[in-house]
Amino acid sequence: MNDSADTHRDFVRQIVEDDLRTGKWDGRVQTRFPPEPNGYLHIGHAKSICLNFGIAAQYGGKCNLRFDDTNPEKEDTEYVESIMEDVRWLGFDWDDRLYYASDYFEQLYQWAEQLIRNGHAYVCSLSLEEIRAGRGTPVIPGVASPYRDRSVEENLDLFRRMRAGEFGDGAHVLRARIDMAHPHMLLRDPIMYRIRHAEHHRTGSAWCIYPTYDYAHGQSDSIERITHSICTLEFENHRPLYDWYCQAIGIHHPQQIEFNRLNLTYTMMSKRRLLELVKGGYVTGWDDPRIPTLRGLRRRGYTPEAIRAFCAYVGVTKHNATMDMGVLENHIREDLNRRAERRMAVLDPVKVVITNYPEGQSEELPAVNNPEDAAAGSRLVPFSRELWIEREDFMEDPPKKFFRLSPGREVRLRWAYFITCTGIVKDADGRVTEIHCTYDPATKGGDAPDGRKVKATLHWVSAAHAVTAEVRLYDHLFRCEDPDEVADPALDWKSNLNPASLVIVQNARLEPSLGTAPVHSRFQFERLGYFCVDADSKPGHPVFNRTVTLKDTWAREQSKG
Ligand code: ATP
Ligand code: MG
Repeated sequence: MNDSADTHRDFVRQIVEDDLRTGKWDGRVQTRFPPEPNGYLHIGHAKSICLNFGIAAQYGGKCNLRFDDTNPEKEDTEYVESIMEDVRWLGFDWDDRLYYASDYFEQLYQWAEQLIRNGHAYVCSLSLEEIRAGRGTPVIPGVASPYRDRSVEENLDLFRRMRAGEFGDGAHVLRARIDMAHPHMLLRDPIMYRIRHAEHHRTGSAWCIYPTYDYAHGQSDSIERITHSICTLEFENHRPLYDWYCQAIGIHHPQQIEFNRLNLTYTMMSKRRLLELVKGGYVTGWDDPRIPTLRGLRRRGYTPEAIRAFCAYVGVTKHNATMDMGVLENHIREDLNRRAERRMAVLDPVKVVITNYPEGQSEELPAVNNPEDAAAGSRLVPFSRELWIEREDFMEDPPKKFFRLSPGREVRLRWAYFITCTGIVKDADGRVTEIHCTYDPATKGGDAPDGRKVKATLHWVSAAHAVTAEVRLYDHLFRCEDPDEVADPALDWKSNLNPASLVIVQNARLEPSLGTAPVHSRFQFERLGYFCVDADSKPGHPVFNRTVTLKDTWAREQSKG
């Protein structure tokens, strides 16, 4: 993918360029994207994917896909497969460089024995609580474990028996022997291995000791001869430990570089919370169009191009901040404006009867598919005596600023004719059921030969030809920018879920060409927004998702005369 090529030179790229200039890595650029297979990818991951794969592509390097699968309880092959699919969908390719941290378990174990032999690691038999309590605080040094000075022989024997499965979960851990008074808390003899009798999705029951993230990550990078290990800012304080392990073992030592996570308003990225929403039935699944997973965004109608452009636009910095959801929405609008064909659809239909148009007659009028793309051509749209228009495009008693249809007023029907309202029919409750109009045959195509103007252009669908569809209108997942902002301490972030995040319209009327549009195809419904065909569509029952509304200003532009 090359749309990152015009990305301004951010600080990560600056480091890579400096290294290339000084020959630090012999001209190599090797990055990796290291997801933990414990959930589906979200747009935050997309930022990391675009950065890692983008930098590799830009500087003639390579990017690996590595599953950071060191935590057997939470991981699953379902996630492994979805992650691979989503990375490809986003437009990136790891070729034959697919790796798993679990493939390195034996090497990591051997290095742990080496650290024991060199006096850099020991088996500690305190409980996790005792270890935590003994760690001290930033200003109070930690307390040495009573097991800290076990002999190399005893440590090797215990560690081997830990591996062999002789002990229950939590009986012992392996700790690095660094410095219990280290100003950096993470270096106060951190845990390297835990006993965990659990099935791993790839190694099965081969192991009952598992390395911690800190012990596994840098060494996995090292084995793959990564040059730039790019991760998010919360790992900044892990870097000394990353460096310590590489140095103590004496292996290839990549440079860890931290950048800011992507956060967006009105949603959240935490996999743990997304899992909670999925498992708790708050959303329909990992591909619910309201959540920021790549699956959800794809189903919502987002394109990989728009997501990549957004990631390039937000860039990378050293400061965490929250990006406005509107910025993401603008990127999909921009992309779809260029390539989505226009169609007419009426979401809240009211009938218009053209009283001077012959009964039983119809005609086909040419309509431009995409004014932004001449190659998209045009299509024919049927017109007849009875039409649907949006109920809100008519007012019996309009205020001054309302320029759309009302008694006596003339408006344009897009691609068709000028019509003038001559009367209305109401039901017993006073609700308008029919709007009677006359049309001017001389205005065919939408322009009056005498040059007279109208102040509004409405979309419409021929009633006899319309396809009825279900349309799902999505709004923000949360009703406030920051889901964590809860007034009542008894409530949690879920209390901020937006009850109107999905509104289903059952009887939308679409122009007939939309009845057979394939799943995932995307359109602009004129004046309404961008929509795509949902996978729930069945023959005779099309289902559309609203990807995003039109910019307010654009919607106004379009309805002008
Ligand atoms: P979460 O907090 O959502 O569980 P994670 O960081 O635990 O995310 P990983 O599977 O470990 O998820 O992430 C893989 C890579 O993606 C890591 O390098 C991580 O830094 C990066 N990443 C995850 N979330 C974001 C984000 N919001 N913005 C940028 N990068 C991210
Ligand atoms: Mg993680």
